[in-house]
Amino acid sequence: MNTERELLKGKPKDESFRDRMATIDERGKRNWIYAQKPKGKFYNIRTYVSWGFFIIFFGLPFIYINGRPLFLFNIPEAKFIIFGKVFWPQDFFIFGLTMITFIVFIILFTAAFGRLFCGWICPQTIFMEMLFRKVEYLIEGDAGSQKLLKKTPWTGKKIFKKTAKHTAFFLLSFIIANFFLSYIIGVKQLGKIIDDPLAAHFGGFTAIILFSGVFYGVYAFFREQACTVVCPYGRLQGVLLDRNSMIVAYDHRRGEPRGKFQKNAVAIETGDCIDCFQCVKVCPTGIDIRNGTQMECVGCTACIDACDKIMKAVHRPAGLIRYASENGIANGKKLRYTGRMKFYSVLLILLSGLLGILLLSRKDVDGTVIRAAGMLYQERGADSISNLYNIKVINKTLKKIPLTLKLENAPGRIIEAEGRSIAVPEEGQGKGSFFIVLPNTMIKERKIKLYVGLYEGDKRITILSTNFMGPIYRPQTK
Ligand code: SF4
Ligand code: SF4
Repeated sequence: MNTERELLKGKPKDESFRDRMATIDERGKRNWIYAQKPKGKFYNIRTYVSWGFFIIFFGLPFIYINGRPLFLFNIPEAKFIIFGKVFWPQDFFIFGLTMITFIVFIILFTAAFGRLFCGWICPQTIFMEMLFRKVEYLIEGDAGSQKLLKKTPWTGKKIFKKTAKHTAFFLLSFIIANFFLSYIIGVKQLGKIIDDPLAAHFGGFTAIILFSGVFYGVYAFFREQACTVVCPYGRLQGVLLDRNSMIVAYDHRRGEPRGKFQKNAVAIETGDCIDCFQCVKVCPTGIDIRNGTQMECVGCTACIDACDKIMKAVHRPAGLIRYASENGIANGKKLRYTGRMKFYSVLLILLSGLLGILLLSRKDVDGTVIRAAGMLYQERGADSISNLYNIKVINKTLKKIPLTLKLENAPGRIIEAEGRSIAVPEEGQGKGSFFIVLPNTMIKERKIKLYVGLYEGDKRITILSTNFMGPIYRPQTK
């Protein structure tokens, strides 16, 4: 972004920095980013936030409510537990609505607060900047030492440092992979994979190694590319942000024209930016925030800390780079709650309300009764017709339920084809087949809607609907 002063001076608008990413050179090769370690208020707060994140990430799998994990995302078995409640594929509409609510939340949140999520809460940023990068600083030193180490020949010291770093990275990735898997299969199942012989859980063991490899690859090599090239949320910023969104922004009105700091000189011709490049040196995605809003900016605030430190050193007010909106900086306007944000808020409240109603009214036992495919009706003696049905029942509770079936809205009977009742295991599925037999006289239409009650003893658990097909009854006239 060019400054107003430059535009007033008639300088052409130079947007060439947008032609390629900061991490890719002219030949299309990767520019490795050696980000300098940030120091300052925001970095300290982010460190505390990351501790909270680590406690939650590594602690949640151990929390069980009524024998169930608090959260489980078992994609292979299509079983999900959220806040201790089990969700099955049959709850897909709740899932769909949850996803829509989540997307609206993301849109609203981003429109108002920009990439606050990316900089402060996103696991990719927290693991990269607050864990792996810190281990790297510890072993290889700050950015300058890392560059030097890269250039030096393979001495014993270099081999030791590189081996130590990559061993630490793989071990951390291995730990993260184990916890990641525990969100999918549960910490108890993970314990079995660890305790039992390898052959007993070959699939689980392979998953751990695979996840470890992916995490190691991402944090050791891929790094900021995950945010700038892969992450769909990052790539959507262009459409989600507007000029009133809160972003990490450089105050070009105050900073330009930039010029080198000269002690004892009165800065009349230049703005507050002393062109020291400290904001660029700390940036983990290698961009220059003074160019304006860029897709690569993950809102990590490192440049705010770096610039505030420089401003303090040259006795100028802090906040040359700060949280602000583009309008706020260009027109001196404060952050506003815009019409778009209000619309999203109303939508979000409505969707959340609907989601709450669906969650509260969700049945613990649910299922489907479907007529057996390819089967016609059967004549039973001279006065009855039967249809064959398949039933599938999902039990979302923690106890086994023996179910019996009753016809609720017709004087027919149910004959189980497979035993007298359907036993549905806890947190499992039960199925069976049965006939519904109706007297001929009941069949006044080709298709009749029937309701089948599912009972545990005398207690009705739920009602399922189905259809009955048969020839329309026509009384014989003499
Ligand atoms: S420009 Fe600033 S806030 Fe954005 S990624 Fe770089 S250092 Fe972080
Ligand atoms: S750190 Fe501040 S003063 Fe230094 S180049 Fe960046 S914006 Fe300018």
